[in-house]
Amino acid sequence: MYDLDAADLHAAREQLVAFSARLLADGLAVGSAGNLSVRCGDLVAITPSGISYHELSAADIAVIALDGTEVSSPEAPSSETPMHLAIYAATNSGAVVHTHSPEVIALSTVRDELPAIHYAITSLGGPVRVAPYARFGSDGLASAAIGALDGRQAAILRNHGAVTCGRTLARAYENALLLEWLAGVYRRALCYGEPRILSAAELAEVSAQARRLGYGTRRRSRSSS
Ligand code: 13P
Ligand code: ZN
Repeated sequence: MYDLDAADLHAAREQLVAFSARLLADGLAVGSAGNLSVRCGDLVAITPSGISYHELSAADIAVIALDGTEVSSPEAPSSETPMHLAIYAATNSGAVVHTHSPEVIALSTVRDELPAIHYAITSLGGPVRVAPYARFGSDGLASAAIGALDGRQAAILRNHGAVTCGRTLARAYENALLLEWLAGVYRRALCYGEPRILSAAELAEVSAQARRLGYGTRRRSRSSS
């Protein structure tokens, strides 16, 4: 019924292994913490549960249907599969990245939101909410994440980590890196005093200008319309 040898699934497995290694190298997770997934039509390729990224190979990647049915799972799929599936159901994302990135976790234990201290936060949709705490792998965490993601490409999971999404895995991963960077900048700003927060109007102006410029897209890839 499903073509497990399809080219897009093959590419997704390879990409997931490559980005899992980056998760460690970039300090966004340690050991087997965090998880990543890519949507391929009606299927989702997702990292396995509890397997160190150092040992991960493309053959370990699980493939599940959008309703949670395991289609191919040489290893147990990530314990956060419910959260990934809930995000695909609630958004039009092509990929989801869950990290245990330290600046974000530290912030999550004391704040309810990462405010707009830098205009780059517009890439994430604006100030990033901290979702209420729920146990890892629970349906409660999945619904808390969706609630906090509303209108955003990122959410912070209290006492746990972060979840970001995007059209592609590369974009979802960039969002995870950006979120961690923003949390670090905010912490440093707090050392000086009360940081100035960008207003909604200032953020809207940034988004409008980025759209006008086609910021982040190559000239050659833009449509001529
Ligand atoms: P998995 O190894 O099951 O993906 O879990 C890691 C994690 O971050 C749980 O929240
Ligand atoms: Zn986690």
